Amino acid sequence: MSALETTTCKATRWPGVIRAYATHLPVTAETPVVTLHEGNTPLIRVDNFVRAIEGDFELYLKYEGLNPTGSFKDRGMTLAVSKAKERGASAVICASTGNTSASAAAYASRAGMKCVVILPNGKIAMGKLAQALMYGATTIAIEGNFDDALRIVRELGETGKVEVVNSINPVRIEGQKTAAFEICDVLGRAPDFHFLPVGNAGNITAYWKGFREYQAVGKADRLPRMFGYQAAGAAPIVDGHPIADPQTIATAIRIGNPASWQSALAAAAESQGHIGKVTDEEILHAHRLIARSDGVFVEPACAAPLAGLIRCVRDRLIPKGSVITATMTGHGLKDPDTAIQSAGVQPLVVRPNTAAVMEVIGL
Ligand SMILES: *Cc1c(COP(=O)(O)O)cnc(C)c1O
Repeated sequence: MSALETTTCKATRWPGVIRAYATHLPVTAETPVVTLHEGNTPLIRVDNFVRAIEGDFELYLKYEGLNPTGSFKDRGMTLAVSKAKERGASAVICASTGNTSASAAAYASRAGMKCVVILPNGKIAMGKLAQALMYGATTIAIEGNFDDALRIVRELGETGKVEVVNSINPVRIEGQKTAAFEICDVLGRAPDFHFLPVGNAGNITAYWKGFREYQAVGKADRLPRMFGYQAAGAAPIVDGHPIADPQTIATAIRIGNPASWQSALAAAAESQGHIGKVTDEEILHAHRLIARSDGVFVEPACAAPLAGLIRCVRDRLIPKGSVITATMTGHGLKDPDTAIQSAGVQPLVVRPNTAAVMEVIGL
């Protein structure tokens, strides 16, 4: 008979990533901390998924969808907006596939700053657009893609009138690396492999930096192999050249010319890792599978590394007993349209009586 395992943990007031990891971040006692208590996201062990893909290892998902605006972008944004405020900036600007704009808009409103977001028209998931508008950002949709938006933002940044909070701002990477710290703190070790989606490639850069820094100060015993995945229609790093018109259902990684291209390659090379690509079909399959096997609802981009892991299992690249972590970068509710499409089923509409319901459920 097994008793319910109890722990001595109790709820505490998590202070947000800046205060939790201040000694590892470019902040001083004078830095005003603009936080929504981001970070401290769950690390969920998903044995059902592993069984379903016939793996023989431990897989933990870092569920970043539970950050305040529903994606990992909050980790970098708390720092970027705090540093902008420290410098006396009154406005922040970003280009975005959606989540950066949601996060920038939220933290700017908290800081009492103006926020301008530039989005590719018609290519933003519904939840993310709702956020930018709700938080009160000046929301501009350009008739172009993310790469066009980022070019415009870079040029506006050069005027010195606005603070750019895209991941070309190195402070964003600093904040985002705290997710790697949390993984090591919770596991009590670094994983053997870390899987994540790659879009503009800031996050793979950030995790690799975080894992290395923790190892350097003796808080992690090893370094994971970094496995990043792009969508096949938007895979400039894998294909070896910028993609003029990137296409994928995973809009968060629909990027043809990643800003952190070189550092993503460096993370893969230095860690004996890999940057690969998976098709939209594989992405949608993994997207459904993780929801149905373990109750973890993520946005489509997060399914890219899961699809990549399925390939790795098939190719027998994962040694038995490995400890693997994967970043689920954003919440499934961000993109309800794709989710409903991906689910491949519709509600069963019946007459409002018990017999009719019994009939469709086969009782
Ligand atoms: C931003 C984002 C990505 C891509 O991260 P990069 O740092 O640009 O590589 C992936 N998934 C989601 C949900 C995102 O918001």
